[in-house]
Amino acid sequence: MDADVVVIGAGAFGLSIALHCAVTGRRVTVIERHTAGSQASGRAAGLFKSVQADELRTQLARRSIALAAGFADWAGVPLEVARSGSFLVARTAQHREFLLRELTQSRGWGADVREADPAQLAGQASYYRSAGPEFALWCPEDIYIEEPASLIRAYLAACRRHGAEVAENEPVIGIQVTAGRVAGVQTTRRSVTAPVVVDAAGGWVRQVADLAGAWVPVSPVRHQLLITAPAADVDPASPIVRVVDAAVYLRPARGGLMAGGFEADPLPVDPRQQDAAFTTDDMPLDLGVLRRLTAQVGAEVPVVTATAVAEHRGGLFTMSPDGRFVAGPLPDLPGLWVASGCNGSGFSSSPALGEALAAWIATGTTPPGMTALSPERFGSMPDEALIARGLWQYAHYYDPVAG
Ligand SMILES: Cc1cc2nc3c(=O)[nH]c(=O)nc-3n(C[C@H](O)[C@H](O)[C@H](O)COP(=O)(O)OP(=O)(O)OC[C@H]3O[C@@H](n4cnc5c(N)ncnc54)[C@H](O)[C@@H]3O)c2cc1C
Repeated sequence: MDADVVVIGAGAFGLSIALHCAVTGRRVTVIERHTAGSQASGRAAGLFKSVQADELRTQLARRSIALAAGFADWAGVPLEVARSGSFLVARTAQHREFLLRELTQSRGWGADVREADPAQLAGQASYYRSAGPEFALWCPEDIYIEEPASLIRAYLAACRRHGAEVAENEPVIGIQVTAGRVAGVQTTRRSVTAPVVVDAAGGWVRQVADLAGAWVPVSPVRHQLLITAPAADVDPASPIVRVVDAAVYLRPARGGLMAGGFEADPLPVDPRQQDAAFTTDDMPLDLGVLRRLTAQVGAEVPVVTATAVAEHRGGLFTMSPDGRFVAGPLPDLPGLWVASGCNGSGFSSSPALGEALAAWIATGTTPPGMTALSPERFGSMPDEALIARGLWQYAHYYDPVAG
């Protein structure tokens, strides 16, 4: 065998799995169609969030924060993180109730979350002006990574340091199956034999699974963000602010402010229905979506509507019907694994999700709780239902109903 593990896709998911496998001594080859981090991962907002909707995701999120903050200690490569903390803000009674529920739940699951007094929000978030009776939670554990490419670079350097091969500009075009189990992959240049193949192809995950006749229950959906030009009102040391009733997130970025959010009518974009050469660069962007979202916080965050847009970018989320990751062995084809269903949290959960999957692959024993992420959990589902439920999860990212 050429490798113990082949990973398809050098995004945050693929590189993290590869790194954790390599750290434990496995021979790993990562194969990337374009360049590492060039699709969703290099365009992420870089936000890490300790408050999650269930205990497993809370554990993965908090473990990921610890692994990112201590990256040099276990991976041997430096990684800068902004230990900013974050505020969760609710401006309606309904959303206040939602945050109070999240406070109790998240504390029960070990997260450090506190009720913030209004003066704390005003004092710490330079760009946020209180316009009414907000309710806010303070999440001191939360961090962000200023440029998402820096996590990708760190993963790459650490992978190579631990002996993993990362091949770029080399599309996988086939998955080899021998005697009913995975035997390796075929690329445009060569075949690589391995008993374990991990499909971490992001928005292309279903296309890649199709190569082996397998099915992954996710649907890709567009997500966008903007970064304003530098603005005096934004202190770079300010925390992240998430205004849950507006479904908008904000953080300092490049001297200005980053803003992104979750529209009620998101755009599904399935690469399987696009030209074969489709990449994220071909995905249509729509600044109007972000203008409408940020207008909802125009009174509290005037800088975001008053300052010129310096960057507007977007990419694909892989949404699952229940909002949870889709990670583990695929049914019916031993040796084929998947890491997908990011639901907008794949960048920040990649360190711990990669760790858990690498341990599972190495030992054959399911890490605690991980069966909840099984690709088999939905049975079969027609594409229309998959898309409809994925869109619902996206639109309700911060919504009390989804809690
Ligand atoms: C605008 C935006 C903001 C986001 N903000 C956040 C955030 O703040 N926090 C957070 O946690 N998450 C965020 N996300 C989500 C996050 O980016 C992803 O969940 C995460 O990066 C994991 O992506 P991935 O590895 O699954 O996919 P990708 O990064 O897309 O990687 C998949 C890779 O597979 C490759 N590939 C595809 N087909 C093949 C093939 N046949 N052969 C070889 N390689 C192939 C692709 O070229 C690609 O590089 C954001 C996403 C977007 C778009």
